[in-house]
Amino acid sequence: MSLVDSVRDAGIIGCGGAGFPTHVKIDSKASQVFANGAECEPLLNSDQRIMEHQADELIEGLALIMKHVGAGKGYVGLKKTYKDSIAALTVAIKKAGFNIELGLLDSCYPSGDEHIMITDLTGKIVPEGGIPLQVSALVSNVLTMVQVAQAAKGQPVTERAVTLVGEIFKPQVVNVAIGTPIRDLIEFAIPLVPVEDMVVIAGGPMMGPIVNIDDVVNKTTSGLLFLHKDHPLVQIRSIPMDAMVRRSVAACCQCRMCTDACSRYMQGHDIEPHLMMRVLAYKMDTPTRGMTSAFICSQCGLCEFACPMDLSPKRAYADILKNLRAAGLKNPHTKTPLEPHEFREFRKIAKDRLTKRYGLTKYDSHDLRLTQFPTPPVVRLSLTQAIGVPSKPVVAMGDKVVKGTLIARIPEGKLGSMLHASIDGTITDISDEHITIEGAK
Ligand code: SF4
Ligand code: SF4
Repeated sequence: MSLVDSVRDAGIIGCGGAGFPTHVKIDSKASQVFANGAECEPLLNSDQRIMEHQADELIEGLALIMKHVGAGKGYVGLKKTYKDSIAALTVAIKKAGFNIELGLLDSCYPSGDEHIMITDLTGKIVPEGGIPLQVSALVSNVLTMVQVAQAAKGQPVTERAVTLVGEIFKPQVVNVAIGTPIRDLIEFAIPLVPVEDMVVIAGGPMMGPIVNIDDVVNKTTSGLLFLHKDHPLVQIRSIPMDAMVRRSVAACCQCRMCTDACSRYMQGHDIEPHLMMRVLAYKMDTPTRGMTSAFICSQCGLCEFACPMDLSPKRAYADILKNLRAAGLKNPHTKTPLEPHEFREFRKIAKDRLTKRYGLTKYDSHDLRLTQFPTPPVVRLSLTQAIGVPSKPVVAMGDKVVKGTLIARIPEGKLGSMLHASIDGTITDISDEHITIEGAK
């Protein structure tokens, strides 16, 4: 069986980002492959623990992909400060004997953004609105690489590492079954505030969305940040979009600090958020260049961090993009800058500054322990784990399954991912969104 088929059958999607199906990504040619372990969002520790504890499998997966896409060079991109990960990976790379190098990065945000990582490690610049393959590079999260090595041995994705942090007594990194209810994880970690006052951010504080406490862990859930509903970060996130636009029109002083902090502007891309903020209030028939740059905004949030008036160009861009797409517009920004901005190196933002700015310092630990979460009594697996169409169930109510049984597949000819039972048990519910499995008693 080819690597692409093994990876597709194992249900692997990008673990660190939007969840692009990995079998599609690796069905290509590239000269360089990057395992992304930078984990640049504050508070997350999952990738760091994976690199320490599964270094051999990570390098094995990276080497398999390099071989498959014809790459002569591999990198593991990670922070200079990850001493234990560096030690474990150095041994694993030596054993593997492939042309793989550790790409040591400063502890800055957003060094885990694939555009930024490629420039940091090779100097190449991915075109505006483009993907790494356009510069012959392929980037995947370190856990995805581990899963690729496991897929080659016939093991599908049934669990993942998740950082639990925030208003809980036992912050930690847990290996947890896909579909585990977030409520189970809160109880396990012991909440420090009443659960009804808790707000959950899935992923990191900069880019992660607020999710419902009754949601479940998906294949892309790298962390769960538990905050009190009155925490300043939650308050900023909760301002309705129309109120944010009104505030922006009234308060934006055109200082351009958002532009000077913008990670894509620093790549040399044609985006200047202060120009977009200037025209935000006007309803124009033809969108300006400031508006269409929404297509090349990465939603990293550095503009929000930099703004002295607590405005959010990031959210404004998200809203504009929705409207441009609804109007059927395509991205007109496709230039490839020859060089990044001349001040790129000096304007990097240290991760600790973000942690402090958003009042998260008391939750920050660089050394969370990795533990195994016990098998949950019930899991609810989302049929939409990946970019693409929902998976199609192949089981019926009452079917008995064991961990690893295929329960939903990619519809013929579509983009999506296979889905497997993450615990032994019985199928007790099948809806358009989920498959529920109750564990064997
Ligand atoms: S940083 Fe804030 S106030 Fe300054 S130009 Fe940008 S949005 Fe306006
Ligand atoms: S979120 Fe803000 S800083 Fe990040 S790319 Fe978009 S405009 Fe630039």
